[in-house]
Amino acid sequence: MQRLPSLREASPAGKRAFVRVDFNVPLQDGQITDDRRIRAALPTIRYLLEKGAAVLLCSHLGRPKEGQPDPKYSLAPVRAHLEKLLGQPVGWIPDPFTPQPLEPGRVYLLENIRFFRGESENDPDFARTLAQWADLFVSDAFGSLHRAHASVEALPRLMREKYAGFLVEAEWENAQRVLSAIERPYLVIVGGAKVSDKLPLLRHLLPRLDRLLIGGGMSYTFLHAQGLPIGQSLLEADHIEAAREILAQATQEGKKVLLPLDSVCATEFSEKASPRVFPHEPGAFPENYRGLDIGPATIAAARTFIAGSRTILWNGPMGVFEWEAFRTGTVQIARAVAEETQKGAYSLTGGGDTASAVEVAGVASQISFISTGGGALLELLAGQTLPGIAALLA
Ligand code: AMP
Repeated sequence: MQRLPSLREASPAGKRAFVRVDFNVPLQDGQITDDRRIRAALPTIRYLLEKGAAVLLCSHLGRPKEGQPDPKYSLAPVRAHLEKLLGQPVGWIPDPFTPQPLEPGRVYLLENIRFFRGESENDPDFARTLAQWADLFVSDAFGSLHRAHASVEALPRLMREKYAGFLVEAEWENAQRVLSAIERPYLVIVGGAKVSDKLPLLRHLLPRLDRLLIGGGMSYTFLHAQGLPIGQSLLEADHIEAAREILAQATQEGKKVLLPLDSVCATEFSEKASPRVFPHEPGAFPENYRGLDIGPATIAAARTFIAGSRTILWNGPMGVFEWEAFRTGTVQIARAVAEETQKGAYSLTGGGDTASAVEVAGVASQISFISTGGGALLELLAGQTLPGIAALLA
């Protein structure tokens, strides 16, 4: 496994640390509705402060029009929240073009980096402007590492002193436990809406895993590929062939695969729909129904599948867990994964929806590691080189 340069090896005293964080938090009426991403960066910030560095934090928020400030996406609410979490004032840097002295022991927050032209284009001149603020670079924006943007890629390439922050280090080390340093049997659980999002991950992990559980909206394309009835359930016609190939390869390599045996269904895609359970058996699944959660027979089979696994990776919910009537499958899988973890298995869950699902099920504290990454995690698990990691190692 390739080691990332660790922040513990740095000598940050008296230096200006430019820390790329991922403070892309959900906001409603100017209020932060979930501050997990901010809290995840606190160990790195506190460590740098204790070591006597001046800490300049840089993040994006949302998708403002490239190079155009938009008050809707200002990081000002994040600054206020960060002051409360840190218990100290946070200086405000409205733009990176007007130099300002940074004092050791103090924290500063730069306005949304996507307000400035050059960030999303990975412009080297813009990266040079950012480099003027930094004696050393710390990468702690795990959720953004798959983006070749100036503050993630071009800037660390320019810097001599660069380190992984504690969040990126933890994410990286935990990812290795499901990529290379694997304890067997290894179970991969995938769900969520789209087959296309998960295909690269499935292809990369298939040779490594022992057991594969596919649930959620994406599973219906796999069931269809096997000639089983799915009614009006989600179907990605373009990926039926890929699904068939994955199932054939799994059989050939002796992997155990579990697809939904039954689904909790409705005639419409609605929170208020009355749920009914049908098995995916020829003649038994009505044409006008769609699967919105895995059913009780699937949950029972999944429990025996999860039991005895030593490594469990889970990405994507088993159904439309946002709606109470279609939540049971996801909650039961979360509980079973948590129970197995209590028995000594290693578990990693990732993707925003899976992290929320684990919280909804009330078992977040029993999972070995909950990744903060969405797209970045999927790319890492698909064996791709993340631009932000490559730049750190360059
Ligand atoms: P993803 O972002 O691909 O992980 O997908 C997560 C989304 O998939 C969640 O918002 C779920 O509501 C949705 N989802 C899961 N199962 C189904 C299903 N059977 N039908 C439609 N949507 C689903």
